[in-house]
Amino acid sequence: MTDYRTLIDGEMVDNGQWLDVVNPANEEVIGRVPACGKDELDRAVAAARRAFKTWSKTPVEERRAAIQKISAIIKENADELHRLLTAEQGKPHSQAMGEIIGASMMAGAQSTLNLDEVVNEDSDQRLSRTRRVPVGVVGGIVPWNFPVMMAMQKIAPAMLSGCTIVLKPSPFTPLTTLRLAELIKDAAPAGVVNVITGEDSLGPLITSHPDIDKITFTGSTATGKKIMEGASKDLKRITLELGGNDASIVLPDADVEKVAEQLFWSSFTNAGQICVAAKRIYIHEDIYDDLSKAIAEYAKGVKVGDGAQQGTAVGPIQNKKQFDRVCELIQDAKDNGYNFLVGGEVDPSGSGYYVPITILDNPPEDARIVAEEQFGPVMPLMKFSTDEEVIARANNSEYGLAGAVWTKDVERGVKIAEQLETGTVWINEFLHLSPFAPFGGHKQSGFGAEYGIEGLKEFTYPQVITVKKNAAV
Ligand code: NAD
Repeated sequence: MTDYRTLIDGEMVDNGQWLDVVNPANEEVIGRVPACGKDELDRAVAAARRAFKTWSKTPVEERRAAIQKISAIIKENADELHRLLTAEQGKPHSQAMGEIIGASMMAGAQSTLNLDEVVNEDSDQRLSRTRRVPVGVVGGIVPWNFPVMMAMQKIAPAMLSGCTIVLKPSPFTPLTTLRLAELIKDAAPAGVVNVITGEDSLGPLITSHPDIDKITFTGSTATGKKIMEGASKDLKRITLELGGNDASIVLPDADVEKVAEQLFWSSFTNAGQICVAAKRIYIHEDIYDDLSKAIAEYAKGVKVGDGAQQGTAVGPIQNKKQFDRVCELIQDAKDNGYNFLVGGEVDPSGSGYYVPITILDNPPEDARIVAEEQFGPVMPLMKFSTDEEVIARANNSEYGLAGAVWTKDVERGVKIAEQLETGTVWINEFLHLSPFAPFGGHKQSGFGAEYGIEGLKEFTYPQVITVKKNAAV
């Protein structure tokens, strides 16, 4: 077991109080991290505030170079980092490697973005231009499903915009982030990036800290609402990336054999613990029987197990609380007599938070497994008849994160996509995020966006400078 330290003001430090971190594949403690509270937060925020004075004035090309250095360090250390990520998060090695390399690539790509000044007016009377200025010290709060990707999703744009950041990983998955912090600590001046760990109770201290100017949060909608409330006291800027209950719509012209495997992974990658995973799959009635059979057949060949073992394609649920929640949803489906195509039997005897791949056959629209974000390896397949009907059913949710349409008729697919109330819609693919496109939720899936110019702008204020020409002064 290793002790990990937090990054405050350029130094790796601890406070002598520790939180255990458990491997979800076997429930063994694999590391300890500092249990930080107000003192550590105050020190980290003070360091970020000091660093902000010079970092915000540092030429953007230097800030860009620092992010690119961090991107390179992540890539160089991908072998070590992805093993640690599997051990704490549970995802199979290949997917952990995908997350580490993805974090490196997304940060590198984001570093190339430019917030150019905009000329609003250039007339005989005046020159008016809008420039973007960094908001200040950012509090970043991250969940446990993609800890490294989400950390970099916040660190990179904060740094590029000229902000400094205090980042808090989830207490369930802080290890890789702290190791990463240690590796990158000299890539930028002390205080620009700080990483502190603690229980959930550290979150509200960040949200209400008087010297933090902005919160960028990824996590559940319930916590997002608390953050919005906490941030309202001093009107902190907020970006919220929250939950989803994404619908995938398969039209009757889709090739059953070709889409079955893709649909499977759109739901079961990372054991279904992805905000933009397909959580409701609507299949046209003409192909429902064939496609549901093909997905079920494919599922039977997929191995669930310890992500560190060769051949594992779906790992355990990341933590006990989430495991209990997914089990409860499965039990609810059983109690209501819904039909299971695959899975449904959780073995409580062994160690590790394993849920078998579970696929439900056409449960009703108001079933909990359909109406709620399940965030686990459980997928309901449902039958539909018309485009109008399926659009209404897909939109019948408080969430609005993403969705997908599968069809050979791209025009029809786009027409459906344009009627979905979500921030992202994929046609004939899934889970693809671009560093150059805004990613954010409609309705209760979020507030604001990450990635792209829209995402970068969220770390800045607009400032308009107007110069009167030929002024009488
Ligand atoms: P969570 O909301 O429980 O926790 C997220 C983070 O918030 C953790 O670091 C936690 O310690 C912290 N936190 C908890 N209570 C807090 C409070 N009162 N104030 C401030 N911070 C607090 O979410 P989770 O269970 O870690 O993650 C799963 C959820 O995240 C799912 O709903 C999923 O859809 C969502 N998610 C969304 C996206 C997205 O981009 N939209 C991406 C990944 C996950």
